[in-house]
Amino acid sequence: MLFAWAFVLGTVIGSFLNVVIHRLPRGQSVVAPPSSCPACGHRLSPLELIPILSWLAQGGRCRHCGARISARYPFVEALTGGAFALAAGFFPRWPDLPLVWVFLALLIALAFIDADHLILPDALTYGGLAVALGGALAFEVPQEAREALEGALLASGLLVLIGEYGALVARRGANGRPSWPVGFPEVHFAAAVGAFLGPVWGVAAGLSRWGWNWVTRRTWPLPDLLPLSAALLGPLLAALWPALPLGPVESLKSLLLSAGAVALLGGLYWAVQPQDEAEEDEEEVVVMGFGDVKLAGMLGAWLGFWPFVVGLFLAVLAGAVLGVLLRQRRLPFGPYLALGGAAALFWGEALIRAYLGWLGVS
Ligand SMILES: [Zn+2]
Repeated sequence: MLFAWAFVLGTVIGSFLNVVIHRLPRGQSVVAPPSSCPACGHRLSPLELIPILSWLAQGGRCRHCGARISARYPFVEALTGGAFALAAGFFPRWPDLPLVWVFLALLIALAFIDADHLILPDALTYGGLAVALGGALAFEVPQEAREALEGALLASGLLVLIGEYGALVARRGANGRPSWPVGFPEVHFAAAVGAFLGPVWGVAAGLSRWGWNWVTRRTWPLPDLLPLSAALLGPLLAALWPALPLGPVESLKSLLLSAGAVALLGGLYWAVQPQDEAEEDEEEVVVMGFGDVKLAGMLGAWLGFWPFVVGLFLAVLAGAVLGVLLRQRRLPFGPYLALGGAAALFWGEALIRAYLGWLGVS
């Protein structure tokens, strides 16, 4: 009974997600005006808005002008219905279930918007992060508050640094335009200081550099190789030299926390800035977009760090396989990350246990 009810609710939410996926990247309101046929403008009646069934009954065409309606609309509705029913099986309790539904709905919207437009809207990524942190504070769901915050910072720190070390290798040293007043150089600097002195000093260093840029009206020039090498030296030296304040694991964790915190704060700064989209440099080699870093932060808060790593691994695997099959040139990573994250929500813990068991750890 709960499954059937969850499925029906999911298809209705999926119908709304279709509107979000279509309108949000175009800067249109998701609540008004009511849905209409994109071909003839005919306003859809309640009978034409029944998820999946209307599309089937009308043979995938507009009842008014006969224009084809993409099969993606009923697909998104069925997908959301299926995901909601699955969630009802895994997390049948209050308040877990409604929170998980919010998480899955956000992931579906993000995946399709990224596939269409190669963007992950801040409203959805930071919105999802805020819901996870709010749920953690109010109900200790999906995680305890500390775990959720740590998960968010570690996950976004991991993703931003994978991207930055990747960019360093791909560009042989030249690493992105520095953006004033905050950008990747501040993230690198936070990681370098955090690796030696702990996350508080790491974040403080990143924010100080941001502030220094602000005061001097320019970006403090520092070759990216310097802080990025220093950040790697932190855990290495800690392993060789026990007299250092941080152990190797602490150092690694601290450099990820510092980078993640500054990346998410910097991203939030840019999210609230009015931006000219024409400024985006299409020619630049993008190993990993910044939207993925924010999505990673959201996923880390919902899943916790290690299940997030499982999700990331599944995403890379799915991206490698499907990317080759679909012959995508510019690969949006968001849909794979969303898919990996959803899989990790349901099977992450089980996969970790199976893996540890296979290693003989537990
Ligand atoms: Zn029509």
